Amino acid sequence: MQAMHSHSPYKVDARPGFWQLSMRCCLLAGSVDVAFFFIFLTLDSPILAWINVISVAMYVSAYRALTQRRNRLGFVLIQTEVLVHAGLGTVLIGWESGFHYYLLMFIPALFVSTRARIAWILAGCLWVYYAGLHVLMWYVQPLQPIPSNALLGVNIFNLTVVFFMFSYLALFYVITVNRAHTKLSRMATTDSLTGLLNRRQIIALTEKVLARHHRHPTDLTLMLLDIDHFKQINDEHGHDIGDRVLIAVSQHLQSAMREQDFIGRWGGEEFLGVLPDTDLEQAAESAERLRKAIQVLEIDSHGKKIQVTLSIGITQYRADEALSNTIARADHALYKGKSSGRNRVEAIHV
Ligand code: GH3
Ligand code: MG
Ligand code: MG
Repeated sequence: MQAMHSHSPYKVDARPGFWQLSMRCCLLAGSVDVAFFFIFLTLDSPILAWINVISVAMYVSAYRALTQRRNRLGFVLIQTEVLVHAGLGTVLIGWESGFHYYLLMFIPALFVSTRARIAWILAGCLWVYYAGLHVLMWYVQPLQPIPSNALLGVNIFNLTVVFFMFSYLALFYVITVNRAHTKLSRMATTDSLTGLLNRRQIIALTEKVLARHHRHPTDLTLMLLDIDHFKQINDEHGHDIGDRVLIAVSQHLQSAMREQDFIGRWGGEEFLGVLPDTDLEQAAESAERLRKAIQVLEIDSHGKKIQVTLSIGITQYRADEALSNTIARADHALYKGKSSGRNRVEAIHV
């Protein structure tokens, strides 16, 4: 069902869901065949009963191969079992047995696991096999017919199993796609080092706040925060420790922000905070609180404690100006903070 990735443990681990799915299908198909063994014994069809014993043995081997990550072997076993079993079941007890339904399971599996071109070719071969079986059984009598009520029973049983498997498969793919979507959107909106919103996302969110602001004007304050002398941290302790400092500072800022505020990584060691419904005075208090929280933060570097400080520039959004103007003003406030000694909050009134 999955592509042959036995040579690539990375891919296998990246999609553990496929393993669960394949193994569960193995278990389900194996159990179905155990049930068939007893059904055909009671129906006095020993040949079919023994075919099911072979099938169960193949599923057990496939399951073991999958647990040992020998996926190529596992999938070859499963595919062979399904192809041969569907063919034999049909030839022995007839088209009405519905054993051919299982062949349809190959269609989605093919397109998911191989390149489109190969999948089309294999799907064509499958069609020939499927249609060939149908035409054959149109003209030829089954070799081991069973009573017609039993035939109906077998058909409904097979139909039920295939319905269940298709539903399960569809659900599995929906869940896989949703997970991938969630992961991708998190990757697209957050900064991979600090986990804060990235620059693009913080702009997008701020634009949304501005749209609301245009309908219902309220106070809105922007805050640019920059770690002081961060280059020295890198120079003295190395880039990795620098990264750890960035992560620690980010986490602290994030948790110290109020519920309605948001903060993102603006660039290197610079952060942008957005404070809706907040005037400059309240924002200055918030900024002061953040500054003090970072000032006392101690980050461990091989036993030594590193401390950093922040300079913060704040300014309010002025009605109808471009966002870039407000940010430029916050940057100017930050610059003032830097030039008047760092580790301080500077505000520019509009
Ligand atoms: P100032 O007080 O004026 O802000 O001085 P500064 O040293 O903090 O500012 P400067 O802009 O000179 O240096 C910023 C440094 O931040 C330089 C760059 O190597 C470092 N930096 C940027 N991004 C990262 C990162 O992701 N990880 C690490 N470790 N360092 C980074
Ligand atoms: Mg700096
Ligand atoms: Mg900087």
